[in-house]
Amino acid sequence: MTTELDDELLSMEVIDNGNKVIAGSQSGALYSWNWDGWKESRRKWLGHPSSVDAMCKLDEQVICTGGNDGLLRMITVLPQYGFEGILGDHGEDFPIECIKLDHKQKYLASCGHDLKLKFWNIEFLFKGDNSKKEKRKWIVIDDDKNKEKYATPRFTKHTMNKFDPEDTNLDGILANNKKWAEEVMKEDPAFLKNIALKQQPKILWIGCSDSRVPANVVTSLPPGEVFVHRNIANVVTHADLNCLSVLQYAVEVLKVEHIIVCGHYNCGGVTAALGHQQYGLIDNWLRSIKDVYRLYKDELEAIQDEEKRLYRLIELNAINSAKNVCHSTIVQNAWERGQKLTVHAWAFNIETGIAKRLEWMAKDRNKVDPIYITTE
Ligand SMILES: [Zn+2]
Repeated sequence: MTTELDDELLSMEVIDNGNKVIAGSQSGALYSWNWDGWKESRRKWLGHPSSVDAMCKLDEQVICTGGNDGLLRMITVLPQYGFEGILGDHGEDFPIECIKLDHKQKYLASCGHDLKLKFWNIEFLFKGDNSKKEKRKWIVIDDDKNKEKYATPRFTKHTMNKFDPEDTNLDGILANNKKWAEEVMKEDPAFLKNIALKQQPKILWIGCSDSRVPANVVTSLPPGEVFVHRNIANVVTHADLNCLSVLQYAVEVLKVEHIIVCGHYNCGGVTAALGHQQYGLIDNWLRSIKDVYRLYKDELEAIQDEEKRLYRLIELNAINSAKNVCHSTIVQNAWERGQKLTVHAWAFNIETGIAKRLEWMAKDRNKVDPIYITTE
């Protein structure tokens, strides 16, 4: 019996008392099959950023993987895939070649390209009543003693979750959602109940639709804290009823105190606006960025380096949208009423994950023109 994949398999274990085969691949995906259902039972989980070179089972449901990036990760396979934490680290440039667990379940041994055989004390994973093995609690994150040593923050659960394109019913997404809700409940049982009654966000975020710039994630704020409007290239125009409705509700009903217009580098929308290629309907939307270019033509064309010019246009587009927010009757009237409201323009760097304040901010109707507060 053979099963074909267009991904090279590099490591393998048999788990679930012989009922399941799991394999790690070149692409970083984990594949699993039921022992008797090679054709129809294949599942794929995209959880690793690079190839899974080595694998070792910790029990019938949980494995440790050794990655091309030198990390030993603990992965729950059953009942559903989940990343639990980092068990060890050989260093980023030292792929792991082999992992074994000693028969006393005390040390995990691993060797890799750093020419070292390393032993990791993982006894803490197995403490507790062995007779209740099924209910054993995995405590990588909760165990204070080992927290610093093992649960390194290089990859958190949030960056490890990936959508599985074969999950056509979105079962995995719903399972993730359930796990998230349970974790929130555990942390603060009243939290969701409280925000269900009322939202009182103090921030309106106007950002790009780009999947890499999610407002709550990059600001590290929970549900209830940020009211959000996103469109391609964070454009604010006075003819966009959708954006204006969000703005009106945020300012007049929710009474937000800050509006952040956040652009981002590597913005496909701004890049497209700078070029001459046609993309369809979207070109009309991106017209206003061409207007921004025209408005700041001298400044932009004085920049020789093309990438730097694009970066500046991204910043100027965010500033221009922020100014349009200020010039709207909604914000003008709010300031007229004496409402506390500050409009900010930011640019987010996807590569570093850092958002920076641009050299512009407005606190009242007399200060809509540039206030140079910083020139980072
Ligand atoms: Zn964008």
